[in-house]
Amino acid sequence: MTESLIRKLTEGNKNYRSTGSVELRLKTASEGQHPYAIVICCSDSRVIPEQIFSATIGDLFVIRVAGNVLDNHQLGSIEYAAAHLGCGLVIVLGHTRCGAVDAALHGESDGFIRYITDEIAAAIGEERDPLRACEKNVLHATAHIRREFAEHPEVGEARIIGAVYDVFSGEVRYLDEDETDA
Ligand SMILES: [Zn+2]
Repeated sequence: MTESLIRKLTEGNKNYRSTGSVELRLKTASEGQHPYAIVICCSDSRVIPEQIFSATIGDLFVIRVAGNVLDNHQLGSIEYAAAHLGCGLVIVLGHTRCGAVDAALHGESDGFIRYITDEIAAAIGEERDPLRACEKNVLHATAHIRREFAEHPEVGEARIIGAVYDVFSGEVRYLDEDETDA
């Protein structure tokens, strides 16, 4: 069973190498990357930043973790991309029908998943509406980034925005920063 899945991956990679942006791949490989935005989003297989933003190799510095939560590893990744690669834009992208937000709402998780749902639960507080909870989780993350990098000159100058991706319509809706109460 898993053998066929590995074959699927291998075939996919073969196809990737023979089509598309061969020139761009070689150019970015030799000259380095200059992504225009940092995207922090969920690992959900329906949420693919490069496709959502019609982006290609070298465009986006993507940090994916279930529930788009942040800890020091993610903050380090943001710091690297902003301070060393010159990314001036940070987007925290939540999404509708997020399993992590749903688990936090229902308080049912164990193992390492609990680290994720505890973080989301702290962000959403008493909120019980899934969409509103998703928005609060995003705004909690944008506030967290601003707070951590308030004194950091290079990261502090980056624009930090929150958004929610709709898994049905494919639309990205940017959140009003004034809503932040995280
Ligand atoms: Zn999710």
